[in-house]
Amino acid sequence: MLSARATSERESPVSVASDPYLLTPGPLTTSATTKKAMLHDWGSRDTRFIEMTARVRSRLLELISAGDDHVCVPIQGSGTFAIEATLGTLLSDDDKLLILLNGAYGRRMATICDYQGRDYQVIETAEDVPCDPDALERALIDDPETTHVAVVHCETTSGILNPIGAIAEVVSRHGRSLVIDAMSTFGALEINADNTPFDAVIASSNKCLEGVPGLGFAIIRRSTLEDCSGNAPSLSLDLYEQWRGLESNGQWRFTPPTHVIAALDQALDELDQEGGVSARGARYTDNCETLMSGMSELGFVSALDEADQAPIILTFLTPADPHFDFNEFYDHLSNHGFLIYPGKLTNADTFRVGCIGRLDTSDMQAALEVMRSALTEMGVTEGAPHPR
Ligand SMILES: *Cc1c(COP(=O)(O)O)cnc(C)c1O
Repeated sequence: MLSARATSERESPVSVASDPYLLTPGPLTTSATTKKAMLHDWGSRDTRFIEMTARVRSRLLELISAGDDHVCVPIQGSGTFAIEATLGTLLSDDDKLLILLNGAYGRRMATICDYQGRDYQVIETAEDVPCDPDALERALIDDPETTHVAVVHCETTSGILNPIGAIAEVVSRHGRSLVIDAMSTFGALEINADNTPFDAVIASSNKCLEGVPGLGFAIIRRSTLEDCSGNAPSLSLDLYEQWRGLESNGQWRFTPPTHVIAALDQALDELDQEGGVSARGARYTDNCETLMSGMSELGFVSALDEADQAPIILTFLTPADPHFDFNEFYDHLSNHGFLIYPGKLTNADTFRVGCIGRLDTSDMQAALEVMRSALTEMGVTEGAPHPR
């Protein structure tokens, strides 16, 4: 049997030999050089660190062509911290949020509103159906009280791509404010502040930017944020105060994740070296296509229509063969150095395989070989699910 790790070690010198390959929605496989960037200590009030924070903030703005009209406000923590901070800061007690929901991350925004006591409603579509800009338009006409709209760019629950361009156009035409959870797309799929009007785009260090976990950030329209003083129901998750603090002396209000920011600075160099957002998106698309065609050769069936699939994470229906056991499949892959993810769909039995992070098509091929051997070992003849 082919040793996947040996293959990938040869072909992906960026990875540390003993680390698993993370075919997950994050955290992800990072380059050795990004990991190495953390082998130092920084004083949080020292000029070098202040400069590094400023540099990272402005580079994040550049990635979505956001100029002086927008600001980048970083926040300690995982992606959810940044979402909670953004909703808490942008929405006042008098505002009302409309959430376009087709998966767990849309639902999480509703939960955040419950905690914060913010008024909201949802337009829910099935997990394998993209959000509908026409339904959004009707809802905005029907409900003048709605001040803000939130949408998830790629719902990582399934890997579905939501049409944020069309949604932004509707929201802007009706004079409302748009918040985009771009956690799993930022750095790989194009978002352009020039033609996609938004008030906030939220992401984190550890997904398509290929940094390490520990930092979230929001890119917020400056004129909007200027009006948000006093909204936040939280001290540490107040992005208005976080922004004022950074603007006043370049320092973070509370202990910054220094090593995470240093790793992100390096990861952003590597994004540039790769050729920027479009080149990274192209590599992930190659990974996605390699995985998809290899998985269908093995008989697996995707939970999504091809047209709705983002090149981020793939969801497969659990095979009908009674010999298939997800835990065994997982363990076999894990023993060979590949970590996949359980499914998260509420209406079907599934599992997920990510195609993002510092991995290329040879790593996908190696993973497919190991999946093939796992099926053989379990005595599964093909990966086809029960007919739907
Ligand atoms: C990963 C992710 C998040 C944030 O998750 P954390 O575990 O808090 O980092 C939010 N939204 C989407 C779409 C995601 O993929």
